[in-house]
Amino acid sequence: MAATPLPAGKSSAAALDPLDLYDVRGMLTEEERLVQDSVARLVDAEVLPRIREAFEQHRFPKELVPQLAALGLLGSSIQGYDCAGLNAVCYGLICQELERGDSGIRSFVSVQSSLCMYPIYAFGSEEQKRRYLPAMARGELIGCFGLTEPHGGSDPANMKTHAKKRGGDWVLNGAKMWITNGAIADLAVVWAMTPEGIRGFLVEKGSPGFAAPEIQHKFSLRASVTSALYFDNVTVPEARVLPGVVGLKGPLSCLTQARYGISWGVIGAAQACLSEQLAYTATRQLFGRPLAQNQMIQVRLAEMARRITSAQLLALQLGRLKDAGTLQPAHVSLAKWNNCRMALDVARDCRDMLGGAGISAEFAAIRHMLNLESVITYEGTETIHQLTIGRQLTGLNAF
Ligand SMILES: Cc1cc2nc3c(=O)[nH]c(=O)nc-3n(C[C@H](O)[C@H](O)[C@H](O)COP(=O)(O)OP(=O)(O)OC[C@H]3O[C@@H](n4cnc5c(N)ncnc54)[C@H](O)[C@@H]3O)c2cc1C
Repeated sequence: MAATPLPAGKSSAAALDPLDLYDVRGMLTEEERLVQDSVARLVDAEVLPRIREAFEQHRFPKELVPQLAALGLLGSSIQGYDCAGLNAVCYGLICQELERGDSGIRSFVSVQSSLCMYPIYAFGSEEQKRRYLPAMARGELIGCFGLTEPHGGSDPANMKTHAKKRGGDWVLNGAKMWITNGAIADLAVVWAMTPEGIRGFLVEKGSPGFAAPEIQHKFSLRASVTSALYFDNVTVPEARVLPGVVGLKGPLSCLTQARYGISWGVIGAAQACLSEQLAYTATRQLFGRPLAQNQMIQVRLAEMARRITSAQLLALQLGRLKDAGTLQPAHVSLAKWNNCRMALDVARDCRDMLGGAGISAEFAAIRHMLNLESVITYEGTETIHQLTIGRQLTGLNAF
């Protein structure tokens, strides 16, 4: 049968959600969809209206913390201790929706949940869990995670920050760099070398000899606090040392949790850019037709949809593996690498397709693009994740 010609410029495609072409949402449970919807509402109502100004002012919108806490988004995967006890896919969806707003807001939740509450939950004493976790879930205590040092974050085994025993206490000396939440944190989970190996120390704000100055002049993650941490003979009681882990596997296991969330989160940033771009190219008239009616523009949009869809499917399977208890660090490395690269490329291309308007904060693309330059770097650079996969494939360590 001959196909009926369509009016010029119209397509026959059945309605599909351009941001979810493979209906990943249809593969979610009812609870997962409810969580996604409630975070989406928070982002629409509270994050999007204020994020541009916060980014321009280089200010973390701390006033959002009680609302993030009220929805159960802080330590959402932890069972007990006033935490929501949600599954890994829910945590991923939380990250995705928050990062649709801004990577800085997702970073806050990632650090609080995966890098601070998780190690206390996994490696802390019962007294430490009771002292910190409920208050952190309520957003009354903010945490930060100190692993990276000024001389090189990719090689954390070469740690210079150290702790020595003095009587019943420990004395901590050294410096950490690029620490999210540092200047606003009430509690720092600090990894330091000891005669037994790397251990985790819980350093409370105001401890004599401890300073956390904010790093200024960032062009990325401007709606997030990033700090240095300095320890000058800081006394930490034995009761504030994490008893359950010794060695690099402590901080690395936290990074696996956080990288998992990032793999989901960046999808939200890419979706925000594509959504904005679809609206822009539909209305921008050039050469007598909408920009969206050019082959080259459609190829670029299709390329974005292809890569976002692949990232969504990868993230969902990653979540199902995590919930099944079969997740390996190499799975997370591949997803962190693939999805961050995808999101950064999408954001850069969206910025370009906006033309001159693409350099304006009126549009979200440049903010997401600048944020994603950090997200592709932190929690293991792209190269570090590629080398992790290479090691998995070959059995040879090329670091
Ligand atoms: C905004 C922001 C927030 C952050 N928040 C935190 C936080 O909360 N806590 C924390 O502990 N850290 C945090 N970080 C630090 C982050 O994890 C590090 O920046 C990252 O791990 C890279 O370390 P580095 O900056 O020292 O770079 P380097 O390790 O010096 O790497 C420099 C370059 O060398 C490459 N490279 C390294 N090793 C190899 C190799 N073997 N072969 C080839 N190339 C290699 C890297 O890929 C990179 O391109 C944050 C960083 C940023 C930017």
